[in-house]
Amino acid sequence: RAKAMGRNQAQFYSRHFHDQVESRIRIEQDLKKALDQDQLVLFYQPQVDARSMALVGVEALIRWDHPDIGLIPPDEFIPVAEESDLIHELGQWVLDRACQQFSEWRQTSPKPFTFSIAANLSARQLKDTGLVDHLTQCLNRYQIPANQLELELTESSLESSLAALDMLKSLSSLGVNLALDDFGTGYSSLAHLKEYPFNILKIDKAFVQHIESEDQASLLKAICSFAHSLGYETVAEGIETAVHRDICADLGVKRLQGYFFSRPLPASELEARWIQSSPSILPPMKRH
Ligand code: C2E
Ligand code: MG
Ligand code: MG
Ligand code: MG
Repeated sequence: RAKAMGRNQAQFYSRHFHDQVESRIRIEQDLKKALDQDQLVLFYQPQVDARSMALVGVEALIRWDHPDIGLIPPDEFIPVAEESDLIHELGQWVLDRACQQFSEWRQTSPKPFTFSIAANLSARQLKDTGLVDHLTQCLNRYQIPANQLELELTESSLESSLAALDMLKSLSSLGVNLALDDFGTGYSSLAHLKEYPFNILKIDKAFVQHIESEDQASLLKAICSFAHSLGYETVAEGIETAVHRDICADLGVKRLQGYFFSRPLPASELEARWIQSSPSILPPMKRH
């Protein structure tokens, strides 16, 4: 379905615009409007504890609800935002919206509310000097315990400058959890990984999904043992079958996420299907 949406969008823009530059500029202009006119939405995908299968987290994933096209997936517009300064405004909107939603759930929940919420950050946002202030404001305004918020960054944020490392350290010192997303697909130097304040590794779905291949299975096993022996908490994404679930659970992956449990859902659906039916007290996440 996401693929179909992407095709629609690509068709829409290519019907109207002759070259890529023109269509990129148009997407950028439309995206600016989208921010002003409230066309962006967050969907939420559950993460379950690999032992208890209880809900222990959600990841917020952005979509653009375009008036002419319908839902556009993030891969179609995040790169455009990243090429302009829009990514800063968009990124701040994501943090704000995710925190607001989380606090709403927290306040209306009849039970103690210990699961975490994760938001994706673009590597470019690490250059936003206002990021720490903005995040602090979000945490305060919505009364979010910092350790229940997780920020996901991909490995490209490791390639970059010392300034990015400083920014990550400042974020970490607020008490939020930092997850390295799509782990294993980038080219980051494993030797330097520990210099970064990540405490969670999110194993890329590529390692989970071709598990029938013996090589791939060994690779997943090696990645898990690497992650755990260095003290990282692990999350596996792309769990689509019971086999994926069982293998990851056996390898000691802490949290599981994927279509097998649920697709990303609008807030109201996540609430109805997951939050209202989740068991009572879940242990809060530990930091290293
Ligand atoms: P990601 O953070 O690695 O998110 C996981 C992607 O895998 C999501 O795609 C999710 O819908 C998809 N997925 C989840 N379970 C499964 C599964 O079982 N099988 C398969 N094949 N896919 C699964 P989505 O929502 O299209 O997001 C794509 C990427 O866009 C994200 O990858 C993330 O890098 C980026 N993104 C999403 N939201 C934001 C945002 O708010 N800010 C920024 N900067 N990037 C975002
Ligand atoms: Mg992510
Ligand atoms: Mg990922
Ligand atoms: Mg990804």
